[in-house]
Amino acid sequence: MHRGIIFSIEEFGVNDGPGIRTVIFLKGCPLRCAWCHNPEGISFEPQYMKKKTGRTLCGYAVDATALAEKMRQHRDIFEMSSGGVTLSGGEPLAQPLFAAEFLRQAAPVHRVIETSGYAPAAAFREIAALADLVLFDLKLMDDEKHRQYTGVSNRKILENLEHLRTSGKAFIIRIPLIPEVNDNEANMLAALEAIQGATSLLRVELMPYNKFAGAKYPMLGQTFAPPFDVAKAPNVINVFEKHNIKTVIL
Ligand code: SF4
Repeated sequence: MHRGIIFSIEEFGVNDGPGIRTVIFLKGCPLRCAWCHNPEGISFEPQYMKKKTGRTLCGYAVDATALAEKMRQHRDIFEMSSGGVTLSGGEPLAQPLFAAEFLRQAAPVHRVIETSGYAPAAAFREIAALADLVLFDLKLMDDEKHRQYTGVSNRKILENLEHLRTSGKAFIIRIPLIPEVNDNEANMLAALEAIQGATSLLRVELMPYNKFAGAKYPMLGQTFAPPFDVAKAPNVINVFEKHNIKTVIL
C-alpha cells in the first residue's frame, strides 16, 4: 500500500502518449527549470492556488492500488482509442514506490511515464521497465548550462538515457525549445549523439516554448521571471530527420 501525492488528474488527454489518456500529475520535482509551466508540480507539499472560482488546495494523497483499480475499470474505454494512462508531473520518479506500485497494478492498461530522467539508476530502471512507453524530456546537454537553468546536473539524466537507449524499451525524446538557452545546433547535435543507434526510439518531439508558461505563478503567489526573453520565438533546429530519426514539432 503506497500513497503518493498528486495535483491533478486530467481525462481525455491527447498530448502525453498514444490515443486518449488519463494523465496523472504527481506533485514534487527536484528540478527547477526556468521555463516550467507547471509550478504547482514542483513542491511536494500541498499548496493553495488562487483561481477565479476561489482558492483551491493543490495536492492530495492517493493510494496507488485504488487509483490503479480505477484505471483498470476504464480499460475498455482506453482500448477504443489505443490509449491508456500517463504518469506525469512534477517528476513521477521522485515518488518511486508509488509510481512503481501504480504501474504494476494498472496493467493491462497501456502505461506511459513522462520523466526528466533525473532519478537514481535503480529507480529509473525499475519504473521504465514497468511502463509500456517512456516520454523522456531532454533539456540541455551541457552540464554547466543544465545546472544553471534547471538547478541540477544532467549526469544522472544522461546515464539513465544511455540505459534507455540500449534497453529496447519504447521511448520518445521530448526537447523543449527555449529561446537562446537550448535552441542551438550544438545542443541538438549533442542530443543526437546521445540517442543515435537506439532501436526502440519512436521519434523526437520538439516543443517550442509556450509564451503563456508563466500564467500559473501569480496564482501561487510566485513571480515568473525567467532569465531569457519570453517574447522571442525559439529556433527550431531539426538535426534528427537528416539521420533518419522521425521528428515532430508540437
Ligand atoms: S522537470 Fe518538468 S516539472 Fe520539473 S521543474 Fe522542470 S519543467 Fe517543471
